[in-house]
Amino acid sequence: CGIFAYLNYLTPKSRQEVLDLLLQGLKRLEYRGYDSTGIAIDDPNPAEGNAIVMVKRTGKVKVLEDAIAEVCRGEDYSRPIDTHIGIAHTRWATHGVPSEVNSHPQRSDLENSFVVVHNGIITNYKDVKTLLEKRGHVFESDTDTEVIAKLVHHLWQKHPGYTFGELVEQAIQQLEGAFAIAFKSRHFPGECVASRRGSPLLVGIKAKTKLATDHIPILYAKAHRPHGQPQQQAFQVLPPGDCSAEFQPLEHKEVEYFFASD
Ligand code: GLU
Repeated sequence: CGIFAYLNYLTPKSRQEVLDLLLQGLKRLEYRGYDSTGIAIDDPNPAEGNAIVMVKRTGKVKVLEDAIAEVCRGEDYSRPIDTHIGIAHTRWATHGVPSEVNSHPQRSDLENSFVVVHNGIITNYKDVKTLLEKRGHVFESDTDTEVIAKLVHHLWQKHPGYTFGELVEQAIQQLEGAFAIAFKSRHFPGECVASRRGSPLLVGIKAKTKLATDHIPILYAKAHRPHGQPQQQAFQVLPPGDCSAEFQPLEHKEVEYFFASD
């Protein structure tokens, strides 16, 4: 399959720009998966409390593009918004037939608390699913991927003080198999967490000035922009293979991240 995620920091972007980027990314990756597609972006209406808008369709990216235009009809696409993390997916089904509910992003709950796009296979998903069902989580899809979103949600309920990155780190320690994942959450607006094991994950960083890092040793990256205020050391990068290492701050703030996996 293909995953594509976009994370912009400090330069307000309109929802139209974010959607165009996601669709462009998906079109490039369409050859990697063609049974269904989906995206998740921020709801532009602040009154919605960081709500996440998801649009998913079976079929080609063009079908999704038309659906997005339909779903967002009458809304102001051009108004710049502060948080602008978009995740997108083109699926090649391994678990669960191609259908809208099985398309990605997969979600933790009806509130879209945590939504994830995934490239790969979680081999122990049945065990994790049984465990989560016992704890009251209700599954809606037949995918292996849904356990990832629900496990992170479960950990968040158990450990409300954890950071988004810590939650994903904890979750992936319990998962077997291969994955490249990108997460978005309404509880962590302005943050995107991406990680990989086995599956490839390419991270592109576009900055106004040259970055101090010559190479990009990213397993996991997040940006944090609480209350719209720029923060020192807002970008953090973790070296591959070491989930518990100290974060290495990137020095430049006007940065855009692109995550892609095929
Ligand atoms: N195993 C996941 C699914 O079937 C992801 C498949 C893919 O990589 O497209 O939904």
